[in-house]
Amino acid sequence: MQLIWEEFLKIIKEEAGSQVVETWFKAVTFKHWDPEKGLVILEAPNQFVCKWIQEHYFGLLNTHLSRLLHLPSINVQIGNKGQLNQKTIIPASVAHDQRVPLTSATPTYNTALIKDSASLTKPTPPAVASFEKSTLPVVQNGYGKDQRCNNLNELYTFDNFIVGPTNSLAHAAAYAIVNNLGKIYNPMFIYGGTGLGKTHLLHALGNEVIRNHPQAKIRYESTDNFVNEFINSIRFDRSAKFRKKYQDLDLLLIDDVQFFSNKEQTQEMFFHIFNTLYEQKKQIILSSDTFPNEIIGLQSRLKSRMGWGLIADIQTPDLETKIAILRKKAAKQTVILDDEVACFIASRALSNIRELEGALLRVSAFASLTHQPITIEMAKKVLLNLQDEKRKDGVQFDNILKLIAKHYGISPIDIKSKKRNKNIAAIRQMAFYFMKKFTFNSLQSIGDYIGGRDHSTVIHAIGKVEEMIKSDPEFAHNLKTIEQKLLMS
Ligand code: ADP
Ligand code: MG
Repeated sequence: MQLIWEEFLKIIKEEAGSQVVETWFKAVTFKHWDPEKGLVILEAPNQFVCKWIQEHYFGLLNTHLSRLLHLPSINVQIGNKGQLNQKTIIPASVAHDQRVPLTSATPTYNTALIKDSASLTKPTPPAVASFEKSTLPVVQNGYGKDQRCNNLNELYTFDNFIVGPTNSLAHAAAYAIVNNLGKIYNPMFIYGGTGLGKTHLLHALGNEVIRNHPQAKIRYESTDNFVNEFINSIRFDRSAKFRKKYQDLDLLLIDDVQFFSNKEQTQEMFFHIFNTLYEQKKQIILSSDTFPNEIIGLQSRLKSRMGWGLIADIQTPDLETKIAILRKKAAKQTVILDDEVACFIASRALSNIRELEGALLRVSAFASLTHQPITIEMAKKVLLNLQDEKRKDGVQFDNILKLIAKHYGISPIDIKSKKRNKNIAAIRQMAFYFMKKFTFNSLQSIGDYIGGRDHSTVIHAIGKVEEMIKSDPEFAHNLKTIEQKLLMS
């Protein structure tokens, strides 16, 4: 275990830098693992380190430990000293969101924090000890006398942020701000759905500012942590200190401001911090999952202030951007992805980049464990469960049928019908072919969907299509055109 852990630290050092290893992982011990259950237990010195690792590095933990341990999937549990025997496990998603009530029936997820049962019974447990009280190792970025951690994750940079039509405005504005702090877009408000790169962009901006202006006082904070830190500051009668700390900054990055919702006192405090920074022309960057005016439970004076500068949205990336992101991530992990496979993974109905990364991870882990090259067949197999979720409503079947029907100017009902004329039969065979190629359904369910045919008809149809691709150039051309549309849809 010691050797594996040392190996793991080396990898993390390469990927995340030695500061991350020194700050977060050095004090963690690899306590136990159970190859049968895929269970890995880590011990951290305190709850804050547990939470931090869980929130920021669980992806790295899962990827590299599962590789090093040769386990296809692992269940990493991290607890602090003295808690590991009590085995009350908080699923990762709950640990992120302390507003959800915890019950013993809460299911366990892949990566979990272990918390002592006593703290679960407190009415509003602070998720994180306040920074004032914390015994955290200090990360220095060389600014001023207050050299506390600025919370920036060095892994998120402009370099590894792929720009496409759906995020170009947010990216360009963030980039422009680096050398114009407080001057051009203040505040800048980035909004967009989950997993689309808001957090990445906030950190990239912060990291670039540090690179260009090492003396700048910067702080990145998630709204949840800001709220918790504020609550603690009140509890310990330190709210003036809290306020001063934020009002002294040159750049304040607050992520996910929708979580200010209904936190009246915190909003009041944030309002004053905002005003001071704004008046002093200090830069404020905010992110949210919605447009400021649509944040429920946010005071209108804050809503309006959040819209004073530039509002930039990030939308779901198009296929090309998804492919470019996959390529970049694959290259970084030295995974070989050919064009067809990259296109296949990117074209799955993945709604955000986090899911895209997850898909790549699953495929590359499978390939490395089985020592096979990555093929489209393998990707299909490995991503089966992921797709099951998305396919429940038969959207993909519908989509395939609609696109083919539209291309040939006929109705989807004709394709499902018993009509035997030669043209319709070929088109129907093409539908079978695409359903097999692009979905994970059984031959029988494909047959059922298209007019209750049996699975042997589907096999026959696929064989026919493969023949026609070779022998009938017009058919092959139509098929290629429809395939491209399907991939883009
Ligand atoms: P959000 O904060 O919007 O929920 P994140 O910033 O956490 O999303 O992004 C989720 C994951 O996707 C991160 O690992 C991030 O690095 C990656 N990601 C998002 N957008 C891009 C992009 N344009 N280029 C490369 N990686 C991206
Ligand atoms: Mg985020």
